[in-house]
Amino acid sequence: MSVYKAPRGTHDIFGELALALEKLDLISRIIFKKHNFKEVKTPIFEDVNLFTRSIGESTDIVEKEMYVFEDRKGRKLALRPEGTASLVRAYIEHNFNQTEPVGKFFYSGEMFRYERPQAGRYRQFSQMGAEYLGNPNPNADAEIILVASEILESLSIKDIKIHLNSLGCSGCRSEFRKKLVKYFSSISDLCQDCQRRLDKNPLRLLDCKIDAGKFQNIPTMQECLCPDCNNHFEQVQTLLNSVGCEYEINHKLVRGLDYYTRTVFEIRSSSVGSQDALCAGGRYDNLVEELGGVQVPSVGFALGCERVLMAAEKNSFFDNLNADDLVFVAIADEELFNHAFTFANKLLSNKDNLCSVLGVKDNIIVEGPFNNKSLKSQLKLADRLGAKKTIIFGKNEFDNGKIIVKDMSTQEQKEISYRS
Ligand code: ATP
Ligand code: MG
Repeated sequence: MSVYKAPRGTHDIFGELALALEKLDLISRIIFKKHNFKEVKTPIFEDVNLFTRSIGESTDIVEKEMYVFEDRKGRKLALRPEGTASLVRAYIEHNFNQTEPVGKFFYSGEMFRYERPQAGRYRQFSQMGAEYLGNPNPNADAEIILVASEILESLSIKDIKIHLNSLGCSGCRSEFRKKLVKYFSSISDLCQDCQRRLDKNPLRLLDCKIDAGKFQNIPTMQECLCPDCNNHFEQVQTLLNSVGCEYEINHKLVRGLDYYTRTVFEIRSSSVGSQDALCAGGRYDNLVEELGGVQVPSVGFALGCERVLMAAEKNSFFDNLNADDLVFVAIADEELFNHAFTFANKLLSNKDNLCSVLGVKDNIIVEGPFNNKSLKSQLKLADRLGAKKTIIFGKNEFDNGKIIVKDMSTQEQKEISYRS
C-alpha cells in the first residue's frame, strides 16, 4: 500500500473522469467562443488581500475556507478560492477597459477551499466561468444566464432549474438589511452562526439551512428595490422570457459572496443530492472600482465542473468518451521493429494518406510497436486496448512489399502494399 495519499478533499483525475472533464472543457469552450468570450488564464495564487477585499471579510470563504500561506519573502498569498477576483485584477492591471472593445472573458481551472469534503464538495475542484465587464444593461445579465444554461443544455442535463433574484444596489440593500434585522431579531432561537451574522451580514441568514424552518413571511428584497433596480430586474426577466428561457424567482437567493449587486442566480439540479448548485453568478457593478479600477458594471457566473459531471452521469454524456479509433502496430519478427516504428510515425502524421488506406478516421490513436513480446501477446494487448485495427509486420509479407491489416472486431485479415 502506498505510504502517501492525495490530501483530504482532493482527488486524482484519470480514466473516464479525465476524458469527461476534457469533453466538458471542449464543449464549453465552443459555447464561450461563439458568444465572443476570450480566455484569460490567471495564476493559481494571488495576494490574499485581493480575495478578502472582494469576496468580503464575513463570508464563509474568507472566514474559514481559504488556503493562506506566506512565501519565503513573507508575502501573504492565498490559493484562489474562485475566479472572478483574479479576472478583475487582471482586467485592471492590463487596462482591458481600453484595449478590449467588448469586455467578455472566460476562464477554466482549479479552485481551492478548505471545506468539509463530501459528495460534490472538495478542497480542490474545477470551475469554468464567464465574466462580462463594462455592460451595465440587462442584456448582459441575460446573456450570462443564457451561456450558462446553454452549456448545461448541451450536456443534456435536463433536470435543471434557474433560480433568479435581485439584491438591488447599496441603497435598496440597506433598507432590506434594516427590515431583515428587525424581522430576525424577533426570532428567539436562532442558531449560533445566524446570531453572529445578524449584525455583520443579515442577508446570509436567508440561506441558513438550520433555521430555514423557523422563517415565515420573511421580508423580500423585491419590496425594497428602488425604481432603477426594479426596472433592471424586470428587463432581465423580459429578455429571458423572449427567448423561452424558464426560471423561477427565489427571494431567498442571496449568494455567499459580498460583491454581488442586482441580479443573482443559481442553476440547480434535482439529481445530484444536497450539493445541488451546478452554477452560480450575478452582477457586480462596484467590484472593479473597489479593487482600484474605474467604475465598470459587470456580470458573470462560475460553473462547478465536478458537480456538472455528477449531473451529466445520469445521461448519455459518459457514453463514447473513447470515441477515437486505436490502431495497434505489431511485429511478427523482431528484425522488422525499425520498419514498424517508422510506419507508426508515418501513420501518426497520416503520411501517404495511410489512414484512408487502412480505412480508419484520420484522428486516430496509434500504439506500438513493442519488441520483446510474442505476436500472441501483442495481439492480446491490442484486444485489451480496444484496437479497431492491428497492423502486423510479418517477414514474408514485408519482403514482398506487403503488411497485414487485421480488423479486430471481425478478425478478418487482408494484405496491403507498403514499403518503408
Ligand atoms: P455552495 O453553496 O455549494 O457552497 P458556493 O455558493 O460556495 O456553493 P460559488 O462560490 O458560487 O459556490 O461557486 C460556483 C460553483 O462552484 C458552485 O455552484 C458549485 O457548483 C461549485 N463549487 C463551489 N464550491 C465547491 C467545492 N468545494 N467543491 C466542488 N464544487 C464547488
Ligand atoms: Mg460554498
